[in-house]
Amino acid sequence: MTARILVVDDIPANVKLLEARLVAEYFDVLTAADGYQALAICEKNQVDLVLLDIMMPGMDGFEVCERLKANPKTAHIPVVMVTALDQPTDRVHGLRVGADDFLTKPVNDLQLISRVKSLLRLKTLSDELRIRAETAQTMGIDELLRTSEGRGEDAGQILLVDGRANSQERIVKALKPIADVSAISDPQAAIFEASENPFELVIVNANFEDYDPLRLCSQLRSLERTRFLPILIITEQGDDSMVIRALELGVNDYIVRPVDPNELVARSLTQMRRKRYNDRLRASVKETIELAVTDPLTGLSNRRYLDNHLSTLFNRSMARGRPLSVLMTDIDRFKQVNDTYGHDAGDDVLREFASRIRSTVRGADLACRYGGEEFVVVMPDTSPEVAAAVAERLRAAVETTPFVLKPSGEELHVTASFGISSRIASVITPGQLMKQADLALYEAKNGGRNRVVAAA
Ligand code: GH3
Ligand code: MG
Ligand code: MG
Repeated sequence: MTARILVVDDIPANVKLLEARLVAEYFDVLTAADGYQALAICEKNQVDLVLLDIMMPGMDGFEVCERLKANPKTAHIPVVMVTALDQPTDRVHGLRVGADDFLTKPVNDLQLISRVKSLLRLKTLSDELRIRAETAQTMGIDELLRTSEGRGEDAGQILLVDGRANSQERIVKALKPIADVSAISDPQAAIFEASENPFELVIVNANFEDYDPLRLCSQLRSLERTRFLPILIITEQGDDSMVIRALELGVNDYIVRPVDPNELVARSLTQMRRKRYNDRLRASVKETIELAVTDPLTGLSNRRYLDNHLSTLFNRSMARGRPLSVLMTDIDRFKQVNDTYGHDAGDDVLREFASRIRSTVRGADLACRYGGEEFVVVMPDTSPEVAAAVAERLRAAVETTPFVLKPSGEELHVTASFGISSRIASVITPGQLMKQADLALYEAKNGGRNRVVAAA
């Protein structure tokens, strides 16, 4: 993992020390001696993480962090505050200004490297999602950041897996101000709980009699439904080998016993905040993709999606030697609907027509709006005979039940024409399959409309 890290400290010896350790791990290191310099560097350069001292003359670390998080250009950069051991309130203050993690002086090597790597891993994911979302240009990143900050105030949902009743009680109490905690002592039951409920963090207290807590962590990481769920592990002081293995498994963070309630709160909040941010990014990317392939009027897939996906369905049917049919339909004399009742009434008819298609075809069929009042349904594993029957059913569903115009309640009799084509034994291309359906539809129109014609 190569990344650029900015070390900010007013004492040159501290800078040198951290720089040397990070360079030894092949990180690219930039340094700053005060807050102003740090802000300027972050603004101008691509920085992946900031290690930030608190006590600095002029602008202190809290203010630097606050400014970094308030600037949309730098808000996504993880900030690790370096706090003094005898100042536990610094952690809470740091958290309030948006710090992502803490290290206490003197900085322990394992903690430094593991926390830096774990934050960089999270950042890699966030960056990828952010870039994709930006490319799609349908969302404002700063709006997203603001919303996720706002939501940071909600009570979190935490699952605590802890083999001992008395430590369960202590941890639940410490987290009370920030989260609803469900405590459980059976690790196997925890897997089920975690995949069935919307938890935002799992805390695993490594204190079981005869169960390896890393097994639980690894299972949580490999299950689809808990893959993105942050895990925080509580370990014995000095058990570095467990910490290293845990982090390698993808555990997000760790705390050593005795648990400092402030630190527990701070680390839990950080993990939950990150998760919310990443969830939002992921959802917005999904939404962006959906918008790009969906027809806004009817909610069916659009032509772009069909053009891309048809070849996949086609190749699959070739490879498996299964039939594939295409149904193409066009509403009859639709122009008259617009001319007589107006464009909005026309839109209502299109929506209702789409909904009848949707309720007539199977889930495995791909229904899309191909053009103005032209629709296409691609039906995998469907013979020409079955395709003809589907088309006939749809034709009847349109003809027999009138379309009701919303404002007036007026009933409209609508019909449509259908062309179908199939890939059977003959080797043809997706384009030819579409062309044949189109020709069949043309024939249906020519033959008097309101009918189904199968390609020869
Ligand atoms: P035919 O039976 O031959 O298909 O006749 P038609 O009137 O249905 O066909 P034509 O292609 O002449 O007209 C299609 C009309 O569909 C023209 C166009 O204004 C209308 N149209 C296309 N897209 C939309 C839309 O999104 N909303 C509405 N209301 N009308 C649309
Ligand atoms: Mg038409
Ligand atoms: Mg038309």
